[in-house]
Amino acid sequence: MIMVRKIAYLTVDDCPSKDMKQKVDFLLEKNIPALWFCRGEFLEKRQEAVIYAIQNGFVIGNHSYTHPLFSRIPVEECFKQIVLTDELIEKLYEKAGIKRPAKVFRFPWGDKGGGFDMTEKGFFPKSENPEKIRIVQSFLRKFGYRQPRFKGINYDWFNAAKLLNYVDVYFTFDTMDWAVMVNKPKYGIRGLEGILERLDEDAPGEGKGLNCAGSNEIILLHDLAEISHIFEPIVEKLLEKGLKFERPEF
Ligand SMILES: [Zn+2]
Repeated sequence: MIMVRKIAYLTVDDCPSKDMKQKVDFLLEKNIPALWFCRGEFLEKRQEAVIYAIQNGFVIGNHSYTHPLFSRIPVEECFKQIVLTDELIEKLYEKAGIKRPAKVFRFPWGDKGGGFDMTEKGFFPKSENPEKIRIVQSFLRKFGYRQPRFKGINYDWFNAAKLLNYVDVYFTFDTMDWAVMVNKPKYGIRGLEGILERLDEDAPGEGKGLNCAGSNEIILLHDLAEISHIFEPIVEKLLEKGLKFERPEF
């Protein structure tokens, strides 16, 4: 394994869990910024950790209200999922006494409204319903949502899918931490060990290029209580690789 020093952006999905504050403290200690993509239904229940994250400089993103597949619900429902969660985030910034720096969004399952595929890269968007994708993108844009400026994302598969041209935030590396919760995970991932081994694989064309020069990374982790115990070991291993975590510009 060759050590490549490159920039990485950390994104954490499905927050806030009951363990979010602990994760925030860990990232603070390691000086790692992160975007936290929160579900509205969880924001209703656990406000304190989110306010704490905001006050400590983290950015809170919108990950819908109940995490549905946007391809399976009517557009009106898609709008509602976005708006309800946005209002909650807005209120939490107010409570925290901090100006909201940006509106950022990530679709549940990577489904922009046109379906998704399960791939080595994670949940990869399909474009089965281009009109619906366009309508939802346009809604997000009008509502003030923007793609942050991530520097140096150069994977061919990522750019071929024009993923930075959309409003929502995708990722270049899915840690597949969620696979630990699944009985029969794909791709031979078994437990924390399997996940850590996968971080060492070199297959940049399949979304596994952490050790390869040429592109910076947008990394996906999850804030789910069932897998809280593997959050820190995964981040430690990412740090060992020499990745330098930055906050994108908004
Ligand atoms: Zn999610």
